Amino acid sequence: MKPETLAIHASNLVKNTTGDVTPPINLSTTFFRDENGGYPGGHMYSRVSNPNRSALENTVAKLEYGEDAAAFASGNYCGMALFQALKPGSHIIAPDDMYWGIKKQLLTIYHETLEFDFVDQTDLNLIKSAVKPNTKVIWIETPSNPLLKVTDIEEISKIAKANQATLVCDSTFASPILQNPILLGADLIMHSSTKYLGGHSDILGGILVTAKKDELWEKIKNIQQTGGAVPSPFDCFLLCRSIKTLAYRMKGHCENGKRVAEFLDKHPNVEAVFYPGLETHPQHEIAKKQMKDFGGMMSFLVKGDVDATRLVVNKVKLFAQATSLGGVESLIEHRYSVEGPDSKTPKNLLRISVGLEHVDDIIADLEQALG
Ligand SMILES: *Cc1c(COP(=O)(O)O)cnc(C)c1O
Repeated sequence: MKPETLAIHASNLVKNTTGDVTPPINLSTTFFRDENGGYPGGHMYSRVSNPNRSALENTVAKLEYGEDAAAFASGNYCGMALFQALKPGSHIIAPDDMYWGIKKQLLTIYHETLEFDFVDQTDLNLIKSAVKPNTKVIWIETPSNPLLKVTDIEEISKIAKANQATLVCDSTFASPILQNPILLGADLIMHSSTKYLGGHSDILGGILVTAKKDELWEKIKNIQQTGGAVPSPFDCFLLCRSIKTLAYRMKGHCENGKRVAEFLDKHPNVEAVFYPGLETHPQHEIAKKQMKDFGGMMSFLVKGDVDATRLVVNKVKLFAQATSLGGVESLIEHRYSVEGPDSKTPKNLLRISVGLEHVDDIIADLEQALG
């Protein structure tokens, strides 16, 4: 089945006795055993598994062409679960432009037990020369936050395979509709389901998908089920509900995103636009090769200093000045002031998540704010 169809039907796993077309929310934490001590409903205790979480994991695993998935209480916990599963002393090659919260885990939680290097992964030679005998993971993020760098998943998967390293792709900005890293050789995919999967800025969650159920995956599942950083049945229900419209929401985000990027690209008060769909983007050809379309995320540099940049975010009316992304409403954010003084993000950079409002209204708002 095609993604549009899977997104609507793959979550209809939850058994119900009342003939509901829409699966119910199973709030029970515990499940009946039978005379032989078995679990006839397939579930024992809801930290380990529950019907709504299984429905969510099944749906996202299918959409990403994976064998299995593990849902967590946040996107960040996907990083935690993988890093905990690695033997101490393992080396990770991570991107220089990386989601701040996961980079922070390496720098402040795993700095004593794991080794890592942050590398510009748009240069394959830099990745090759960063490989060490103890390299166990290559972590990529594409398109990346906040500079929208695109890395070549297929080429990097060859480097990972040649060195027996696991390739993990943070594919949050693309969603399973625009990019399927497992088909390009990735071993694991992560999504912050807080973003496009949820799509309405009202659910926090994350999900890891695996290409195969290997030894590393068994460890990750054990961390999920024994550690217990799992989403509630209600969160899983909401995510399954949101995913049903994911393919159509992504169409709208891509259409609007393209128009907004073209508008910004021509604006005299904009110094540069970072959007993989623009022909001037340095990795546009790679993006065309591995993505079906280019999404609704972009960032741009305002001509002027940090005050001129702040002025733009303070003048928008339709855009909400807030962090996060992937919701139906357009958001704008001054990344540097979120990331703090250690951040390498340019001070005149604004990141926008183009929502599903009418594109003329979105552009009119940016036009009046840019002056
Ligand atoms: C938001 C985000 C995360 C972290 O997810 P949370 O749900 O906020 O914990 C990781 N990677 C990317 C690219 C993100 O945008």
